Amino acid sequence: MLNFKIKSLQACRACIARSQFFHSSLRPCDKILCVLYPDPSSGYPPQYARDDIPRIYKYPDGQLTPTPEALDFDPGQLLGCVSGALGLKKFLESKGHDLLVTADKDGPGCEFEHLLKEAHYVVSQPFYPAYLTRERIQNSPNLKASITAGVGSDHVDLEAAMEHNVDVCEVTYCNSISVSEHVVMMILALARNYIPSYEIVSHGGWNIADCAQRAYDIEGMKVGTVAAGRIGQAVLKRLHPFDCELHYCDRHRLPKNIEERYNLTYWHDWRDMVSHMDVVTLNCPLHPETEHMINAETIKLFKRGAYLVNTARGKLCDKLVIRQALEQGQLAGYAGDVWFPQPPAEDHPWRHMPWHAMTPHISGTTLSAQTRYAAGTREILECYFNNKPIREEYQIVTNGQLAGTGAHSYSKGNATNGSEDAVGIDPHNPQGETVIRL
Ligand code: NDP
Repeated sequence: MLNFKIKSLQACRACIARSQFFHSSLRPCDKILCVLYPDPSSGYPPQYARDDIPRIYKYPDGQLTPTPEALDFDPGQLLGCVSGALGLKKFLESKGHDLLVTADKDGPGCEFEHLLKEAHYVVSQPFYPAYLTRERIQNSPNLKASITAGVGSDHVDLEAAMEHNVDVCEVTYCNSISVSEHVVMMILALARNYIPSYEIVSHGGWNIADCAQRAYDIEGMKVGTVAAGRIGQAVLKRLHPFDCELHYCDRHRLPKNIEERYNLTYWHDWRDMVSHMDVVTLNCPLHPETEHMINAETIKLFKRGAYLVNTARGKLCDKLVIRQALEQGQLAGYAGDVWFPQPPAEDHPWRHMPWHAMTPHISGTTLSAQTRYAAGTREILECYFNNKPIREEYQIVTNGQLAGTGAHSYSKGNATNGSEDAVGIDPHNPQGETVIRL
């Protein structure tokens, strides 16, 4: 297991001792534990495919992209892996704090669990989540905050975090557009039969009919998103120029001007919507109402030959039902980047089913997104170190209470009702995705 620690715990103790002896006015250093995915198998990149990335200042809702005091990395660097260390090394060391980095996060006795016991802050990404179970929170007396370098904090037992006064925050919006681009790419890849055609040419072939027999334009197709939040809306906006017929369902109807701008048709119930759609994309959260929403019964509601794209959560779909629907032609294609469990076993049916265009969980960790969420992580840490308030939109749990985005996305009644499974790890799938009750 690749594992990289920038400063050892012994070094930290020495640092505290030094500050106590020689600089008694200095606060003792904090330990920031980053759980990051391993470096590329070919090693940390010496150079990149491109020299720069566009600078984005605002998200579509007007929110500013992260505004840390400074950055110690070049935008476009690989930051989400162990050697990238989210670009925090220089910053934290200059403040006298300890940065601990590990990729060893699973199973009892993993390095993450060991280091967490002394950590003050823990940072991880949804693509490679460090599961903060109740037990781990209980065993981490110094822990002040769990920071998600990305969007979605369902790897944290929020109820336990509230009880133990551990703040939870995330870099809201940092990769929502990244995910929406992945959705559009996958819709096009499926409909145009891109991956099989690519494989044909890569293997020396040139039979045009082999490629064309499953290739369609999406122009005029009916495309429906289940949920039109940040990602769902961004997908609709991006598909509008393709002259698709756009549909959505959500718990709340979008403002009239948005519906008119993109010529959207609203459906109250997604089950009614899917029977009319050529393409369905799932962009809703996983919760008891949506878990296995695509199952043996509801798959029958789909139009024969529909494409289904799911970058939301693997557990929204029954994996065997999806495979069977592809084998039998009920679905013409399935794509997404979310699985259950993650990482999937070598024999996971989605790796080998026909007409799929699956990727690992990567849609939200492009180099562009990494720049934003690394900057956002630094912004959050600066707020803690300088005793400044964290942006409300980044807050999930603050001072023992749901706050900001957390207060909107999670229901206090369910997140704090003391039930073991209200928020947290599925005990049968500790490495899998978690279920949040809304
Ligand atoms: P948002 O919170 O912006 O939007 C989610 C929307 O879904 C809200 O409008 C919500 O309504 C609505 N909703 C909730 N339950 C249902 C339901 N049963 N039927 C219809 N609509 C429903 O989330 P995002 O757009 O940012 O993200 C959507 C999902 O995508 C996330 O929950 C996450 O699972 C996934 N995701 C995946 C990523 C990846 O890397 N692949 C990265 C980021 C997110 P209300 O406001 O009333 O709750």
